[in-house]
Amino acid sequence: RPAKAQPPAGPAPMDGIGRIVAVASGKGGVGKSTVAANLAVALAAEGQRIGLLDADVYGPSQPRMLGVGGRPASPDGHIILPLRNHGVTLMSVGLMVGEDQALAWRGPMLMTALRQMLGQVQWGTLDQLIVDLPPGTGDVQMTLCQTVRVDGALIVSTPQDIALIDARKGVDMFRRMEVPLLGIVENMACFVCTDCGKVHHPFGEGGARAEAGRLDVPFLGEIPLDATVRRAADGGAPIVASRPDSPPAAAFRALAREL
Ligand code: ADP
Repeated sequence: RPAKAQPPAGPAPMDGIGRIVAVASGKGGVGKSTVAANLAVALAAEGQRIGLLDADVYGPSQPRMLGVGGRPASPDGHIILPLRNHGVTLMSVGLMVGEDQALAWRGPMLMTALRQMLGQVQWGTLDQLIVDLPPGTGDVQMTLCQTVRVDGALIVSTPQDIALIDARKGVDMFRRMEVPLLGIVENMACFVCTDCGKVHHPFGEGGARAEAGRLDVPFLGEIPLDATVRRAADGGAPIVASRPDSPPAAAFRALAREL
């Protein structure tokens, strides 16, 4: 008699969701949320069904970046209806508790909120769910990886040494959680002078690529430092949506193709 198939070890995939991709960074302010938002919009523009789960409890910025607000509806007090803009289905910890309050959450409450966002939100059928994680290697990262099968992690880093050191810890954590590493993307890699057109590397050149090589993870490319990226994010329409012909938008689309 054939042996009974063993259920796979570790957490199960989420029903109706093709793939879960975590966007992580070692420290805050490196542009992790900006990358997650533009990636989500770029993939949606290609025709994929994309969800974006903003789990960045220390600074839930996706409602602002995607230009949505208001408390999500819960018709029966259990299910939670996500919001939608730029072709992306969105739920944010900031929408559930208010952008300023999320920071005050601790341990068990954070995990409850994350499980609610995974289990009670009506994501529908998605090709990919992008998860914008808090910076660092804490409870939210662990809980996510233990609750559902995360199919890949993308690490965002700036070229500075300190950011790279922190990125290394992230790589290490995902390896321990047995989450495949999709690679490292370097944000704010270079700056094109609007006056002379010269390309500057204010934080050094080639650092993330070299580090990716040392860590044996793919290097997924560079996103330039560009004021229009920030203005677009602040204005609720990521640059991929608001200025699709710009060089940074092309860089984000190239990143989306790498995943
Ligand atoms: P994190 O999620 O890592 O904390 P954010 O995505 O919130 O970082 O980005 C921090 C700030 O830097 C935001 O004001 C954002 O608009 C800006 N920013 C991010 N990436 C770029 C870029 N490539 N060029 C210019 N500004 C950027």
